[in-house]
Amino acid sequence: MSKTIKIDGIEVPFETGQTIMDAALAADIYIPHLCHKPGLSPHGSCKLCTVDVNGRAVSACTMPAEAGQEIDNNTPELNEVRKSITQMLFVEGNHLCPSCEKSGDCTLQAVAYHLGMLDGHYPQFYPRREVDASHPTLVLDRDRCIMCELCVRASRECDGKDVFAISGRGTSRQLIVNSETGKLADSDIEPDDMAAHICPVGAILIKDHGYEVPIGRRTFDLHSVAETDLEEVIL
Ligand code: SF4
Ligand code: SF4
Repeated sequence: MSKTIKIDGIEVPFETGQTIMDAALAADIYIPHLCHKPGLSPHGSCKLCTVDVNGRAVSACTMPAEAGQEIDNNTPELNEVRKSITQMLFVEGNHLCPSCEKSGDCTLQAVAYHLGMLDGHYPQFYPRREVDASHPTLVLDRDRCIMCELCVRASRECDGKDVFAISGRGTSRQLIVNSETGKLADSDIEPDDMAAHICPVGAILIKDHGYEVPIGRRTFDLHSVAETDLEEVIL
């Protein structure tokens, strides 16, 4: 007999070793998330995937599925908290969507739409962060970085390199490049690396491809983030 958990009242089967997120994705149940990508080690940092398990708040991407768990996911209360987290991510960086090449392909923007976010709500931080355009084919715009560490993990776990890291605390926390000069051009990143393509926002972009797909025909112009995530359209 297969083991099951219950998500929003729906019986969901799982295998030993799967997390709640793994089981939900396999059952086509969307749990909002930004720092999770199947195939990379779970990180549990964005907190968007926080669910209630038998009354206790846990991250679905790190919590192992266990038989008998009763999980609340798509509730007004949890989605309100997720919206606040998303609003904080917007005000902590400099997100000017109309001028961003990632607009329409951006998971942060799509999650904001999904959660019904209409404004930043919190005061804007306007942090000063450096843009690194030194690399011939890649650009790193830290203004849009949400510190999800997907590029850090992809570089280490998939590319066998260690190009990125997060450094600093509080408002001075930022993505750094592991090279002698701290510049992308002097790192060993290559355009085909997974780390160069995994960014869910417009912080790491490939040069010379701007607006190849017109706005209106991009991923999230055509599908919601929930549909896209479950169909694995991204990547
Ligand atoms: Fe907007 Fe996403 Fe670009 Fe930020 S990264 S400016 S949220 S489209
Ligand atoms: Fe995440 Fe992109 Fe920032 Fe890397 S550059 S930490 S992938 S948001």
